[in-house]
Amino acid sequence: MSKDALKLTDKFGRDITYLRLSVTDRCDLRCTYCMAENMVFLPRKDLLSFEELDFLCAAFVERGVRKIRLTGGEPLVRKGLLPFIKLLSRHLDNGALEEITLTTNATQLHRFADELVDAGVKRINVSLDSLDREVFKRLSRRDALEQVLSGIDAGLAAGLKIKINTVALKNGNATEIPAMMEWAHGKGMDITLIEVMPLGDISEDRFDQYLPLTEIRDELDKTYTLTHTALRTGGPARYVKVEETGGILGMITPLTNNFCAGCNRVRVTCTGQIYMCLGQSDRVDLRAAIRSDNPEVALAAAMDKAMINKPKAHDFNIDRKGARPAVLRHMSVTGG
Ligand code: SAM
Ligand code: SF4
Repeated sequence: MSKDALKLTDKFGRDITYLRLSVTDRCDLRCTYCMAENMVFLPRKDLLSFEELDFLCAAFVERGVRKIRLTGGEPLVRKGLLPFIKLLSRHLDNGALEEITLTTNATQLHRFADELVDAGVKRINVSLDSLDREVFKRLSRRDALEQVLSGIDAGLAAGLKIKINTVALKNGNATEIPAMMEWAHGKGMDITLIEVMPLGDISEDRFDQYLPLTEIRDELDKTYTLTHTALRTGGPARYVKVEETGGILGMITPLTNNFCAGCNRVRVTCTGQIYMCLGQSDRVDLRAAIRSDNPEVALAAAMDKAMINKPKAHDFNIDRKGARPAVLRHMSVTGG
């Protein structure tokens, strides 16, 4: 079959070239907007083995995926992740894949930074919501800021390009954002702000967390010169250059500005469920396909079904106190 016939294209004509793969739902932090303190994690036997994950990734690469982002939960807490990335890197070596990257909270980064670089990883995203030890502890429910900062330093020293992702939180880090931006830019890292999304039941009300980025932008405009850039990374972020720091600031605004028209991605959970949209519940079971008698054929059929079912847009909304989450699963299940 020709390469074009194999391509993953949804019914709105969007080509899927980006796979976000969650390798575990477990995490060593408990960020208040992401998880409840008493999260119940999946039994380990429900997870896809690395062999199965590799089989899946190879199928996606075969069908045109050019970028794989490993996420979770916290990807670096899954034992054996580095050998898995090394295995995946054959697709980089033969040019089929452009990039393997990961999103991490960096608590374990000091242990793995060099190995990541050896495995062909060039850039990673690190999630960090505060540079204040007490605020970090309150937001993540763990006293781990120091460990995260040394992870970031180890990553930079190993030669990784790091982008910081910060969720903007009304009762959390709202006043800290300019300082975080200056810190990130001072270390040569871009920073992207993200609006909190209504995913999963957590112990707090989303309405109390939600801070529209338009408000932050208005605040930043008073102090900084934010210049529009045409920079696009194929994702939902919009970028400005901050003239005073020389750094790049991204903003992901799923709530104030819907970004679905150019969506090029799908998400696969650590149990092999493919979610075609972060903000919808529809999924297709790829695990059943790869554990069937004819895995290649069943997987291809399941991927085709996913393309037919990929929705046009999400329907997030946080407009009133006490609203139910738009989607009941947590971000740690689908991967951010
Ligand atoms: N543990 C890793 C980390 O934190 O980078 C990877 C997984 S985490 C689920 C991926 C990203 O999702 C993080 O940047 C996190 O801040 C973000 N996230 C989690 N829950 C969210 C929510 N409800 N709304 C917006 N972003 C969220
Ligand atoms: Fe863990 Fe990442 Fe969720 Fe925080 S955002 S609890 S680090 S998975």
